[in-house]
Amino acid sequence: MNQEVAQAHSEPLLTSERYARVALNVPLASLFDYQIPKALAYRHRLEPGMRVKVPFGPRHMVGVIVELSETTELAPEQLKALQGLLDHTPVIEKKMLDLCSWAARYYHHPIGEVVFHALPTLLRKGDHAEFRQETWWFVTEAGKQFDLQKLKNAKRQFAFLDAARQHESHGLSPHLCSLLDLQTNAGKALAEKGLVRFEEREFRRAQETHAHQKQVPPTLNPEQEQATQRLLKMCGQFGCALLDGITGSGKTEVFLRLMDQLLRDDKQILVMVPEIGLTPQTLRRFESRLETDIVLMHSNMSDRERLDAWLLAERGDAKVIIGTRSAVFVPTQKLGLIIIDEEHDASYKQQDGFRYHGRDLAIKRAQAENIPVLLASATPSYESLHNAASKKFAWLKLRQRAGQAILPTMERVDLRGQSLLKGFSPQTLEAMRQCLQRKEQVLVFLNRRGYAPTLMCHQCGWIASCDHCDANLTVHKKANKLHCHHCDSHQAMLHQCPECHSHELFTVGEGTEQIEGILNEVFKETPVLRIDRDSTQRKSALTQITQKIHEHDQAILVGTQMLAKGHHFPNVTLVVIMDADGGLFSADFRAMERTAQLIIQVAGRAGRASKPGRVLLQTYHPEHAAIQCLCEQGYEPFALGGLKERQQLMLPPFFHQAIIRAEAKDEYAAMQALNELRDWLSLSTTAPIAMLGPYAAIMVRKAGQHRALLSLKAAQRANLHEALAFASQWLELQAKNHKIRFAIDVDPLET
Ligand code: ADP
Ligand code: ZN
Ligand code: ZN
Repeated sequence: MNQEVAQAHSEPLLTSERYARVALNVPLASLFDYQIPKALAYRHRLEPGMRVKVPFGPRHMVGVIVELSETTELAPEQLKALQGLLDHTPVIEKKMLDLCSWAARYYHHPIGEVVFHALPTLLRKGDHAEFRQETWWFVTEAGKQFDLQKLKNAKRQFAFLDAARQHESHGLSPHLCSLLDLQTNAGKALAEKGLVRFEEREFRRAQETHAHQKQVPPTLNPEQEQATQRLLKMCGQFGCALLDGITGSGKTEVFLRLMDQLLRDDKQILVMVPEIGLTPQTLRRFESRLETDIVLMHSNMSDRERLDAWLLAERGDAKVIIGTRSAVFVPTQKLGLIIIDEEHDASYKQQDGFRYHGRDLAIKRAQAENIPVLLASATPSYESLHNAASKKFAWLKLRQRAGQAILPTMERVDLRGQSLLKGFSPQTLEAMRQCLQRKEQVLVFLNRRGYAPTLMCHQCGWIASCDHCDANLTVHKKANKLHCHHCDSHQAMLHQCPECHSHELFTVGEGTEQIEGILNEVFKETPVLRIDRDSTQRKSALTQITQKIHEHDQAILVGTQMLAKGHHFPNVTLVVIMDADGGLFSADFRAMERTAQLIIQVAGRAGRASKPGRVLLQTYHPEHAAIQCLCEQGYEPFALGGLKERQQLMLPPFFHQAIIRAEAKDEYAAMQALNELRDWLSLSTTAPIAMLGPYAAIMVRKAGQHRALLSLKAAQRANLHEALAFASQWLELQAKNHKIRFAIDVDPLET
């Protein structure tokens, strides 16, 4: 932890505010009052958003001042005093603190944890909110005159000095040094000889010159043009727009036009994407077009990199910020627009701890900043469609593919009574053969990784299941393991039944690993590339695979939902959906929506360039109304039909929902606790809410915990929040019971 800021003001700054209300990173709903020592108030002007060091129990903690007050509700003599101040200026501005307070109330989550979630890790720990220093190298006069040949036996120094001469005017940044593979030690040796000198500079990306070849923008088609014009008119004040454009309709092109205009007005733009994997791709696309500094914000960066990106955004140097969910908290100077790409994606919702929805917070933030927010998707969430249909959002539709490309046709393949080869119907295999013969690529989608989802005994029917979850173990043949996809535990592959000791164990069903193997046998001449979590564990693996895809004409790609996300494979003309029935009969009312989004997104990978595409959906229910509607009419009619059903069944987004989750090792504890909570709520609140449950989670036991839920529903949000306020009071009373873990999940996506 850093020492307190030592700089003193010349004027006494004593004000009447004697107490600071401080947010601490602890799971308690309240702020904590501290006395402001006179000595501190005399030297510094305290403001909300500054970090302080405070005593808390036996420890010292970093806190954030949320309010300053002349009074306190506690006995002043009981209050401890602030120990020190960590900032000259607030690290969280007023508007962001307000957003945090709002989120804490809306999600019924402890304010301290929300405020700390909004800060980069290093600031949470108390580090200075300052750029790091880095070393730059420059050639000296002596270095310029020096005869390089004298260094020919010291290769590294030779290379270093040579580079320093070539970059005489700007110098060598650490970034450039690593690009050119130059060694710091060589620089130091040259510095001792007086041939180069070095300088410590504050790290700023803005100092690097990007010499990118800028691409010429295409002419917008009429739909794009119209959308762009409407969005430009929305700039300068709060408003929400849904850019509802089929895959490949040129939504990104619309972003770029809008961003270009805002950058001219010197505004910053926050672009949110659902996955880390999509940030480099988005970055490259933006860099090839925009003449500005862009930073990334995601969880795969080091703490230091994140803080640097955060500071660049805060000072207004980074004009474009591309980030995942938590980027909604990035500080800015002149934010002009928030874009949320693939707004339907469930990863915008945090599924543990502070369970916020990045999209919904972004809308709230845009409102506070009085700027527009643009949600984009080929498969909008039902929530956003509902908002668009009821005119809360401007609804901008792109129904044509941009450029030459046309939307693929969707065909159902009836699996009933067919003899299947590891899940492939003869018709599907024939279509694949034809596609490969045309020197085009096939994409096979199966949302199940591993070799097989089940291992079974032929003699006694025993099934390999997880010791900690109510789930079967997945067979991973290459790794020779049995793996639980729910709690991540694994064990060595079994070759003998533990019940009857028979050796006749066999697998049931197929995963991507098995499909890859079978396709390698059937299509011997064709490279088969698998894209799933297992095949892309190494950092650069995905880039390598996609490179291979681009190198070959013919190829088969096999993958899970990772394939659905944003990738552009121009030579894919056939998409095979192995199992379209997955979401049809689920207990989760969102399953249909999710399945349809996944199918349409995967289908959208076909025919993105000049060649037309074709999509085959393998199904046992070709006449099912949902599948029929999706294939023949497309996503919008399908989703609007689904929305009607939700309305009849009084489900979100027409009704507001929250779930209170409980989990415990004990088989009955979670259920019992929620029963008590239900009784308590029926007594304490008169708000018209519907309570459902408590009931067991669809998978009751996960990672050794028995899970139960209580669902609350209300027509009016205020009523739901009233009930939740009572619920969180009750949960706080249970805080000492460490045997049960509770969570409040507002607008849950999972049941
Ligand atoms: P989306 O984001 O809707 O999936 P993209 O913006 O990625 O679509 O556009 C799909 C492809 O079409 C990209 O290669 C893009 O460069 C190209 N494109 C977009 N707009 C146009 C246009 N007006 N004319 C020609 N090509 C376009
Ligand atoms: Zn057996
Ligand atoms: Zn498990």
